[in-house]
Amino acid sequence: MRIAVRAVLFFLVCLTRIGFAQAVHGIGRAYMDTTCAPCQDFYSYANGDWIAHARLPDSHSEVGTLDDLAMKRATTLARILDSLRSAPTVKGPEAKVAKFYSDCMDVSTIEAQGTAPIQPELKRIREVRSLADLEAEVARLHRMQIAPFFMLQALPDAKDSRHIIADISPAGLGLGDKAAYLGTDSESVASRHRYEKEIALTLQVAGESPTTAQMLAEKVMALETRLATATLGMEMGRDPAAVYHKVSLLSLGNSSSGGWSWAEYFRDMGQAGVTAVNVQEPHYLEIFEAALTDVPLPELKAYLTTRYARNATPRLGGGPIDSLLSEFGRGNLAKQSTADRSRYCVDETESHLGWIVGRIYAATAFTPSTRAKAEGMVRNIRGVLRDELKNVAWLSTDSRAEALRKLDSFVVEIGYPNKWPDYSGVEVRSASFWDNVVAANEYQTSLELARIGHAQQLDDWWPGYWPETADAYFNENLNEIVMAAGYMQPPFFDPAADDAFNYGAFGAVIGHEMTHAFDDRGRKFDSGANLREWWSAADKTAFEERSSRAIAQYDQYIAIDTLHLNGRQTLSENLADIGGLKLAYAALERSLAGKQRVALNGYTPEQRFFIAYAQSRRALDGSDYLRDKVMMNVHSPEKWRVVGPIVNMPEFAKAFRCVAGDPMTLSDAERVQLW
Ligand SMILES: [Zn+2]
Repeated sequence: MRIAVRAVLFFLVCLTRIGFAQAVHGIGRAYMDTTCAPCQDFYSYANGDWIAHARLPDSHSEVGTLDDLAMKRATTLARILDSLRSAPTVKGPEAKVAKFYSDCMDVSTIEAQGTAPIQPELKRIREVRSLADLEAEVARLHRMQIAPFFMLQALPDAKDSRHIIADISPAGLGLGDKAAYLGTDSESVASRHRYEKEIALTLQVAGESPTTAQMLAEKVMALETRLATATLGMEMGRDPAAVYHKVSLLSLGNSSSGGWSWAEYFRDMGQAGVTAVNVQEPHYLEIFEAALTDVPLPELKAYLTTRYARNATPRLGGGPIDSLLSEFGRGNLAKQSTADRSRYCVDETESHLGWIVGRIYAATAFTPSTRAKAEGMVRNIRGVLRDELKNVAWLSTDSRAEALRKLDSFVVEIGYPNKWPDYSGVEVRSASFWDNVVAANEYQTSLELARIGHAQQLDDWWPGYWPETADAYFNENLNEIVMAAGYMQPPFFDPAADDAFNYGAFGAVIGHEMTHAFDDRGRKFDSGANLREWWSAADKTAFEERSSRAIAQYDQYIAIDTLHLNGRQTLSENLADIGGLKLAYAALERSLAGKQRVALNGYTPEQRFFIAYAQSRRALDGSDYLRDKVMMNVHSPEKWRVVGPIVNMPEFAKAFRCVAGDPMTLSDAERVQLW
């Protein structure tokens, strides 16, 4: 509130706008509005000119740095895939990639095939006559990575993290989180209405009459609502202890013949040998099993049809599908430009043959010197965190020792994995594009589930992450930090830029991931990456007292209209942002020790550090997207990812000569002081 009011007042005196040519390396001066005072509104100071000129194209819900990286990734991959497609001599894995991409780009064949590629599976669903048939069909869809009712994954046993076990969690809820099914605000009501209409039209595409489709859509909606109500929801579901319930397969129960059988299900998934399963949400499973017995079979089948068809339609074409997709903003193949189609097909090729694509990408677009430079930064930031853990006053002696062991056990993978997953068995049959998607998904499922019962490999990356991904993460089950090559390019990382820039933009990312190991979630895992309570009651109290300041701080921020951020929902990420920036700053200071501090373009290294950080998070969001983000995302919107951490740093106030009471400062009593 305070920030918003002062920013508005100050806007009246932001009169002149001075344009600068953008530096080739380092901070982008052309993005800044230097007529705004940094201590009043630093986000506008660093990004004001960019924000004033940014435009949101219809096809985008956000533009900004992450979008820039996504575009770069898409352009690089499109270049790679286009050249493979037009090279007739391509062989081996590259040929599979080229074929997959080519089939996706072949719009006229896709349009001509219409709904033919999905007819066999729709027929199978129609022919389901019993719960035993339903089980077999659910397993078929699960192998295709379509997840009605629940999802089976191969995940580390949280209490014995070196071992991979079968894990079942709620899935198949088209609106995502429980809150979307239960919210009474007009937005939620409208989105449910839209979704129900989409189900009805999807069922029509699948062959139902309009009246039956509408009737069944209401039933599907009721079923999803019932299932969603039984989930823990996003906030509770994030607690690793709340989702750990390892049980024997036998205890899951098997109904008499003709009913749902878990043993059959696992057999159908190729996992007949499974004996133990982590059921993330036992209550959800009870409600699911109850629904199997009291929901009429035609309604359960309508739900399966919806899940299947909704997954397939974006990969199909033809009149009814085109209008369905365009009505619900999910792309319309008939109207796509070649560039848009290429972008879509790049994504599809990546998400289905990711490790083949990623390997080509890493060899083409990531240099050993970039990797070496990042390794140096990781070492330096780790050193700062080590000293921090040694000295932090609120952590007890035993916890401190274990925290240091945990820090020392970190595995860091920079750019690409040290060992590449084997994709040699994947098939691209080309009967239809949808068939290619299904074959690749089935292959991925078999690879993933084959890990069950074995020791975890250090090189397993999270699903959906490849070298070209513009992201990083901390995996608590491995004590592993992964920073994908796609993230390590300007405006986050530039080997040719000054250290202040790299620490501000990318050092903050490294620090962010490291502190995740010790936040409200990561702290529940010990140095062996096992779920274990290793903090004393006093440590927890001190942590909670300190982190409650972050909740209060972010709760105050208004993202749009009267919509406040949810400080609790975003707590882990906010703490990582605050801690990460502090660690990166200290690491920069260390790297500058004994060197002359050179001003560039009139900015000290410390100023450039904060400007680089703020610029790395410049973004313009569509209002619906922003609202969704505030409601659903565990990260704060980009602007608050900048303001939230800097106000916690006296180093920022010093660099820009802010005084107590300035909007970009917090008092000692308000500041979050963990690391
Ligand atoms: Zn994070």
